Amino acid sequence: MLSQLMTKKMLQFTKLNQTTPVKRPEQDRKQDFHEIYKEYINEKAQEQSSRCSQCGVPFCQVHCPLHNNIPDWLKLTAEGRLQEAYELSQSTNNMPEVCGRICPQDRLCEGNCVIEQSGHGTVTIGSIEKYITDTAWEKNWVKPSKAKKEMNQSIGIIGAGPAGLACADELRKKGYQVTVYDRYDRPGGLLIYGIPNFKLEKFVVERRTKLLKQSGIKFVQNFEVGIKKNLNELKRDHDAILIATGVYKPREIEIPGSNLKNIFPAMDFLTASNRKGLGDKVELFDNGTLNTQNKDVVVIGGGDTAMDCVRTAIRQKAKSVKCLYRRDRENMPGSAREVANAIEEGVEFIWLSGPKKFTGNKQVEEVQVNKMILGSADSSGRRKPEIQEKSEYNIKADIVIKSLGFDPENLPELFSEKELSVSRWGTIKIDLNTMQTNIDGIFAAGDIVRGASLVVWAIKDGRDVAVQIQKYLKEKSIQKDKVKAA
Ligand SMILES: Cc1cc2nc3c(=O)[nH]c(=O)nc-3n(C[C@H](O)[C@H](O)[C@H](O)COP(=O)(O)OP(=O)(O)OC[C@H]3O[C@@H](n4cnc5c(N)ncnc54)[C@H](O)[C@@H]3O)c2cc1C
Ligand code: SF4
Repeated sequence: MLSQLMTKKMLQFTKLNQTTPVKRPEQDRKQDFHEIYKEYINEKAQEQSSRCSQCGVPFCQVHCPLHNNIPDWLKLTAEGRLQEAYELSQSTNNMPEVCGRICPQDRLCEGNCVIEQSGHGTVTIGSIEKYITDTAWEKNWVKPSKAKKEMNQSIGIIGAGPAGLACADELRKKGYQVTVYDRYDRPGGLLIYGIPNFKLEKFVVERRTKLLKQSGIKFVQNFEVGIKKNLNELKRDHDAILIATGVYKPREIEIPGSNLKNIFPAMDFLTASNRKGLGDKVELFDNGTLNTQNKDVVVIGGGDTAMDCVRTAIRQKAKSVKCLYRRDRENMPGSAREVANAIEEGVEFIWLSGPKKFTGNKQVEEVQVNKMILGSADSSGRRKPEIQEKSEYNIKADIVIKSLGFDPENLPELFSEKELSVSRWGTIKIDLNTMQTNIDGIFAAGDIVRGASLVVWAIKDGRDVAVQIQKYLKEKSIQKDKVKAA
C-alpha cells in the first residue's frame, strides 16, 4: 500500500514542470519522514503477496540482479508459509533484509512487475522481502552457516562491504578459512558509513556481520592494505585474495573559492552523521562543523548520494536545504522515488543550475550559480548541459556538500603493486570468466570493478567470485597433490 501511495505521489510530482524549482510550503512539510518502509504486518504481507498474478513471465525475477525466485516466495508468503519463503529468499541472497530496504526497486524488480506495467501498481516486492527476513530474524530462523567439512586453504578478502561479505559468506559455507581485512573500525563498507540510518538501520548491518563472525569468518578491522601490509605481503599469507575495496575518491569541483571553509565531500558529511547515529564521539560534528542544524545547506549533485545528503540535512533540522543539479529532473541519475521523498520532506531542487564560484570571507557564504540549458546529446546519449550566458545569481550557503560521484583510488600505487592492471578510469580489470585480475590468485569484485553501482550488484559479484575462487583453489590443491605424488 505504501509503495502504491508513493507511486501515486511520484506521478503527481512528475506532472510538475520539470525545470522550475519545487519548494513545498513550510506548513506542508511532512513531519513523519519516509523512514524506509513502515511496519508491515502479516496480513498486509499476505495481501500484497497474493496480488502476484503468478504471470509465468517473471520479469521481476529477470530484472533482479540476483534472479531471486520472487514469484515462489510471494506464493509461499500468501499461503502463510513464511519460514519456507525465508529459506527460498536467502538461498539466492546473502542479505535479503538489506536489499528489501535499499534496492531501487522502481528500476529493478518492482519496475518490471507485470501488474505495475498494466497500471495497477506493483506488488511491493522489496517490502515483502524485508518483512520475510525481519520475521526470520525475530523468530530465530537465521543461523550462522556451518560448513560440512573444514578446508585448510585460506582466502584474504580486502574490503568488508557487501561484495566482500557475500563472498566471505559463500566461501565459509564451503568450509574455507576466510579473513576479511578492512581499513574502517566496523565491517559493512558503505552499508555502515555511507548509506544513512533512515534508509538502512545500522543494527540491521551489525546483526548480519555478527552472524558472519559466528560462522567463523575472521575480521581484521583498522587494517589498511597498502599501509599495514602491501598486496604482495598479504598474498603470501593466503591461497587466494579478493580485492573488494569499493570506490572512494570524491570527484572535485574545480571552481574559484573551492578552498573556502565549510565545503565538504559528501562522504565526510554522511560518515560523521552515521558515526553519531552509532554513538561515536565525532569532534567535527559535536563542534558544529559537520552538523547542519539551523544552517542554509547547498548540496551539489543529483545522484543517490546527493539525495542521502539532502535528506540527512533535513533530519538534522537545517534551516534550508537546496539541491543544485545541472540537468533537469528527468535526467537526474538518482532514484525517482528518493527525489519525490526529498521534495515531500522540504528539499528545494534547483534544476538546470551549476555552481560558478564560491564566495565568502574565509568560509563559504554564497554559491554563485549559472543557469544551464540542455544542448545536444553526448556520446552517452544524454543531453549535455550548457551554460546560459549572463544568467548568474547567488544562493546563500552556510555549508556546501559536494556530491558529484566517486572514482577509484590509485590501487596499484596504494597497494605497491605496479603490475595490477586497471582500466583508464582506475577500476580493476578482471577476466570476465574467472573474475581474476592479471595477477595469479588475485580476484576482484564489486564497485572497484564496476565503478560506483548498487548493493545488490555487489552481492551478486561477491557470490559469483566465490564460485570462481573455489574453482581456483580446487585446481590449486589438485596441482599440489600431483607435485607431492611425483
Ligand atoms: C551515500 C551512498 C548511498 C548509497 N545508497 C545506496 C542505496 O540506497 N542502494 C544501493 O543499492 N546502493 C547504494 N549505494 C551504493 C552501494 O553502497 C555500493 O554500490 C556498494 O556498497 C558497493 O559494495 P562494495 O563491497 O563493492 O564496496 P564498499 O561498500 O565501498 O566496501 C568497500 C570496503 O573496502 C574497504 N577498503 C577500501 N580500501 C581498503 C584498503 N586499502 N584496505 C582495507 N580495506 C579497504 C572500505 O573501508 C570498505 O569497507 C550508495 C552509495 C553511497 C556512497
Ligand atoms: S534483491 Fe533487490 S531487485 Fe532483487 S527482489 Fe530484492 S529488492 Fe528486488
